Amino acid sequence: MAEPVEELCARMIRFDTTNRGHGQGEGERELAEFVADLLTDAGLKPVLLERAARRSNVVARMSGSRPELPGLLVQMHLDVVPADPDEWSVDPFAGEIRDGYVWGRGAVDMKDMCASVLTVLGRWAAAGRAPERDIVFAFVADEEDTGYYGAHWLVREHAELFEGCVAAIGESGGHTVPVRRSDGALVRIYPVGTAERGTAHLLLTATGRAGHGSRRNDDNAVVKLVDALHRLAGHEWPVVLSPAVEAFIERVGAALGVPVDLSDVDGTIARFGPAAKLVENTVRNSTRPTVLSAGYKVNVIPGVARAQVDTRVLPGTEAALLSEIDKLLGPGVRREFLANQPPVQARVDSPWFDSMAAAVRSQDPAAVVVPYCMGGGTDAKAFSRLGIECFGFAPLLLPEDFDYRAMAHGVDERVPVTGLRFGVEVLDRFLSS
Ligand SMILES: [Zn+2]
Repeated sequence: MAEPVEELCARMIRFDTTNRGHGQGEGERELAEFVADLLTDAGLKPVLLERAARRSNVVARMSGSRPELPGLLVQMHLDVVPADPDEWSVDPFAGEIRDGYVWGRGAVDMKDMCASVLTVLGRWAAAGRAPERDIVFAFVADEEDTGYYGAHWLVREHAELFEGCVAAIGESGGHTVPVRRSDGALVRIYPVGTAERGTAHLLLTATGRAGHGSRRNDDNAVVKLVDALHRLAGHEWPVVLSPAVEAFIERVGAALGVPVDLSDVDGTIARFGPAAKLVENTVRNSTRPTVLSAGYKVNVIPGVARAQVDTRVLPGTEAALLSEIDKLLGPGVRREFLANQPPVQARVDSPWFDSMAAAVRSQDPAAVVVPYCMGGGTDAKAFSRLGIECFGFAPLLLPEDFDYRAMAHGVDERVPVTGLRFGVEVLDRFLSS
């Protein structure tokens, strides 16, 4: 008898793969070896790859019965963000199963999907089944920081592992977002990620004339920087409807019986209930100042002042956004990129999307499966550089009273056992197709 998916998920949580950023953390090696053993048991030949000691990635290819079909990549990450046990009601790395939930760091981000995929593979091996197309399974390191030891490195140095893959599924999508219509009827929306805003982390540098704090100075770097940041932070970025966002608004509006007025996007979204959260950050670009540094002593005007701005950019808007930012900053403030990862965009309507939707509906016939754009980012940013169409699809059935958004990176992260089992069935169906 195979291990139930919830037991496997709990076991994976017990490997502490905390990623503290900047290369610090427990490392993914023990979990990677555990995953590699399971893949080997399922008849695959996994390879372990490390850019640095203990920062392990596991990749395995499963040959399909029809190799002429385009290949699929299933990309997952093994690392998790830190958890402070003092804040939790359980030990975050004990992998407890109680009250119908698997508790622990990584329960929804994303040891759930890792366990579901491995469960499908175990099931296929026991039944002697193989998929039609080639499928590459990648369990990577370092998603929760920069991907320096994980996806970005694999894409640059080991692109051959992903040869023939034209589409990929990964985290952030395929879960239930239950919404009540105004007539009280429950609608279960399943957003599938078809786009991601790009990440442009900016460093702003203002320079001026250093001098004594008691003296007149019309060239004060701190003042120049603060003025520029004030213009930037106060700027009302216009609504830009990228294809995924427009399709989301149209289709969710139809499902909820909310009239869609694209000339009043904010007003329309405001009536989407809990589904509003899936779109409110992706109808506009955003420029949010996050880090400031200048000066070292109260009576000295510094010659340099710096700020960091977390800038997120919708597909197709990069050039216009940067030129507008430059206008807002004005002269005397220099801008450079700390990180610049372009937006990700797959087709909204494609056979891949249709197949995901069909797989979800096979387990939830009333499911409303819609495309959406992620406000932040995932390893799709790396894999899309290989020309792979990336989708956020980690199917999970969630009950109405479950605050999914509070789970990933949150306290008392947990996943419903029934949700995991649903995910296994949906993935089995999708990966078989
Ligand atoms: Zn994640």
